Amino acid sequence: MPVHLVQHPLVHDALATLRESTTTPETFRHMAVRISLLLAAEATRDIPSVPARVQTPLGPADGRKVRDGVVVVPVLRAGLGMLDAVLELIPTARVGHIGLQRDEITAVASQYYSKLPPDLSGSFVLMIDPMLATGGSAVAALDLIRKVGGREVRMICIVAAPEGIALVEQHHPDVHIYTPVVDQGLNAHKFIVPGLGDFGDRLYGT
Ligand code: URA
Repeated sequence: MPVHLVQHPLVHDALATLRESTTTPETFRHMAVRISLLLAAEATRDIPSVPARVQTPLGPADGRKVRDGVVVVPVLRAGLGMLDAVLELIPTARVGHIGLQRDEITAVASQYYSKLPPDLSGSFVLMIDPMLATGGSAVAALDLIRKVGGREVRMICIVAAPEGIALVEQHHPDVHIYTPVVDQGLNAHKFIVPGLGDFGDRLYGT
């Protein structure tokens, strides 16, 4: 499965701040937006676009515009911290939501919400979920995306664990994963080590 390790120094600068345990929720949100913008730019390098002629103050210029049909799917709740950044880059994108909750003891993901466009067969889908840990939520979300026809699907995360990558690879080998880093692995509570802690809690100060 294609894993794209994003090396840009600005990505790693933001990641270091996100990891720092003393980072406040305000700065954490700020850095989450910054890193998501940079990762989304990388994940959309070959996004479909069409020729477009525009008028500059001095005359016509030939350019390109991103084709309609991009769908962004944040996995709730942590994925919401990445959504505004992706919409800043692709304002015409439609947004589907998938709500998955991780049991604190078993780490098994259960779905509590799903609202996706009815047919994703012609869409370019960007699934956003910052922490690819066990891969359970990612696989469950990808299953739902597939059920409504999603074929061209990319996943953007901020920290990945080898266990999560392996599970996604097993179930959805054609999904490209964009991440700046693959960490050591999971601890007994299925948190990524060294990771950055609970992304949702740090984002929302809970
Ligand atoms: N979710 C998080 O927010 N952090 C982890 O380390 C794993 C899953």
